[in-house]
Amino acid sequence: RTVYVNGEYLPEDQATVSIFDRGFLMADAVYEVVSVLDGKLLDFAGHMARLTRSLEALEMDNPLSEDEYLDAHRQLVERNGITDGLVYLQVSRGNPGDRDFAYPPKGTVPTTVMFTQAKPGLADAPAARTGWKIVSVEDQRWGRRDIKTVQLLYPSMAKMEAKARGADDAWLIEDGKVTEGTSNNAYIVKDGKIITRELSHDILHGITRAAVLRFAREAQMQVEERSFTLAEAQAAAEAFVTSASAFVMPVVEIDGTSVGGGKVGPVATRLREIYLEESRKTAI
Ligand code: PLP
Repeated sequence: RTVYVNGEYLPEDQATVSIFDRGFLMADAVYEVVSVLDGKLLDFAGHMARLTRSLEALEMDNPLSEDEYLDAHRQLVERNGITDGLVYLQVSRGNPGDRDFAYPPKGTVPTTVMFTQAKPGLADAPAARTGWKIVSVEDQRWGRRDIKTVQLLYPSMAKMEAKARGADDAWLIEDGKVTEGTSNNAYIVKDGKIITRELSHDILHGITRAAVLRFAREAQMQVEERSFTLAEAQAAAEAFVTSASAFVMPVVEIDGTSVGGGKVGPVATRLREIYLEESRKTAI
């Protein structure tokens, strides 16, 4: 594979970053994941807008322009022959000197890396027809989950717990309410209404979430942005999650209780179709 490091395209075994990089030492880095379908980038502008917000929240300079990011994404897709898959992008604060909790307020040189992962058949995941099983895990992450940092140890542990319990993913619970999945936003469908937690510092502002809610409203479906409990989700007609790489993924079981009779429901199915159709149209 060819990867990108600070303006260079290199074979992956020749790409290196400093052991003093704050991304490595302190998780002082942000990232984005953009899906590729038919060799084209989905929701690219949305991901770039969120990258800018994440960098601003951490007072980091943005090393590249949107056009430069686009060019690098396209070059990697092209050089690695990616038809379906993803491009991972990470910007860290770099290596401003000796390890120190304080960082220089300005003038640090960020470390920018990008690589691709091929995912043949990404849009036709068999799980979309059978749905995911979810278990609940306490949300013990930090309080700025709206910033897409690489501090992913807790969600990683929650995912491992889900797998150990025979499930596909975990929903994180705080103050009795579902925040989101380990790497996706969470939804239920009740009385025909699509319900998902409102935006705040408590959840990542999903790019797929924004697109799916827009398409749902355009299709005259009702949307309510509010938090919900696990019990409400277990009693719901349907449940599902969204993310850049899972698109819209139905949920059929939560903590051992079947949701929607344990079958993938019509709303999740329709939203998945609409999302894939519409986002392919605007893919670049
Ligand atoms: N929530 C969390 C915690 C995530 O890590 C992600 C994606 O990685 C999402 C939600 C979904 O965001 P997006 O739709 O932008 O991929």
